[in-house]
Amino acid sequence: MQQLRLNRAWYRQEHLDFRESVRRFVAREITPYVQQWDEAETFPRELYRKAADVGLLGLGFPEEYGGVGGIDYFHRLVASVELAQCGSGGVLASLMSHSIGSPPIAAVGSAELKARVLPPVLAGERIAALAITEPSGGSDVAALRTTAVRDGDHYVVNGEKTFITSGMRADFLTVAVRTDPTATGARGISLLLIDGDTPGLTRSPLKKMGWWASDTAHLRFDGCRVPAGNLVGPEGMGFLAIMQNFNSERFTLAAGALGFAWVCYQEALGWARERKTFGKRVADHQVVRHRLVDMLTSIESSRAMLEEIAWRLDNTPAGDPELVASICMLKNAATRTMQFCADAAVQTLGGMGYMRGTHSERIYREVKVNMIGGGTEEIMKELAARQLGV
Ligand SMILES: Cc1cc2nc3c(=O)[nH]c(=O)nc-3n(C[C@H](O)[C@H](O)[C@H](O)COP(=O)(O)OP(=O)(O)OC[C@H]3O[C@@H](n4cnc5c(N)ncnc54)[C@H](O)[C@@H]3O)c2cc1C
Repeated sequence: MQQLRLNRAWYRQEHLDFRESVRRFVAREITPYVQQWDEAETFPRELYRKAADVGLLGLGFPEEYGGVGGIDYFHRLVASVELAQCGSGGVLASLMSHSIGSPPIAAVGSAELKARVLPPVLAGERIAALAITEPSGGSDVAALRTTAVRDGDHYVVNGEKTFITSGMRADFLTVAVRTDPTATGARGISLLLIDGDTPGLTRSPLKKMGWWASDTAHLRFDGCRVPAGNLVGPEGMGFLAIMQNFNSERFTLAAGALGFAWVCYQEALGWARERKTFGKRVADHQVVRHRLVDMLTSIESSRAMLEEIAWRLDNTPAGDPELVASICMLKNAATRTMQFCADAAVQTLGGMGYMRGTHSERIYREVKVNMIGGGTEEIMKELAARQLGV
């Protein structure tokens, strides 16, 4: 498969070398197995350690805890695009769930928490997840209902979380809770690290449209006693930490969406060049040829936007309203590109596009979660409008 063309002006040799090493890892350790893992609705835990060995799990985390320092958003971009070349968002969502669960620990966690949680997670020995969404709603984070009431040296946690990626097997859950029941809205929300074996925690697996290889769970906390030292950052400051976490999650998600769109394009192009109808290659029918160009047009524009925003993320103060708005628009643009390309690829493959085992079929089933998770398309537009004062 050909690699996605990048604008070389943005990249240093170290980005391109890193890209090659991720590409080789994905081709060797993930792509050959994604169909089998999708059908099995899981993948071996061993993959975490292998991904850690090539530096993928440590990306952007502090070196003193086993992270890979000195990386910028172009490293994240190439890593996400190349990981997506396996064609399974499900595998990647769970494999990389620590990339949303653990940054708050690294950013605002105590030294004790960092030392206990980060090294085993970044070494692929333990699994981390982020639990924000509740059955009563995910978009309105400030309305969350799970409570954590202080009782001596502990918090007592009661409530429910749902749709949690790696929720079944996570050893560490970074959970958004309401520590001050009297404070309404965003005030009074904190982050708490809850160990997977805490008594009173029950987990149930959820069946999904796509992302079959990823475990997704419903969590119940019934009087879970969590040491007060597991508080992540200051009490009542959880909402801010959650919002700061979203920028890189949305950027990474957009880069992955672009990678999946490219997989669809490649599969459609290969099929259209091989298959013959009415005495000529499918690609020689003008309507198909134009569809392939439309796919590429959408891919090229999302790629250009992604590269420009990678530069701004590396060079603009975090929280800059225009940057936050651009990231929201990028997420929507890239996931639309993925949606368009998945649809176009399935159509180009004809009946084969509907068959399990093709990348296009799997990616088609995985489109919607990208337009919903990490902030829905509507919420992205709302947030962009507010940031820009529209
Ligand atoms: C497979 C999968 C994995 C996930 N993994 C995680 C995870 O690891 N951790 C986690 O915490 N969450 C996770 N989520 C949850 C995800 O982040 C939420 O589904 C998402 O934020 C939307 O929340 P909701 O589903 O409750 O929808 P709701 O918030 O109930 O929204 C329902 C609909 O109303 C629309 N809507 C809501 N408010 C507005 C508004 N103001 N204006 C216009 N439209 C609006 C939404 O856009 C949506 O279309 C996952 C979800 C899925 C499907």
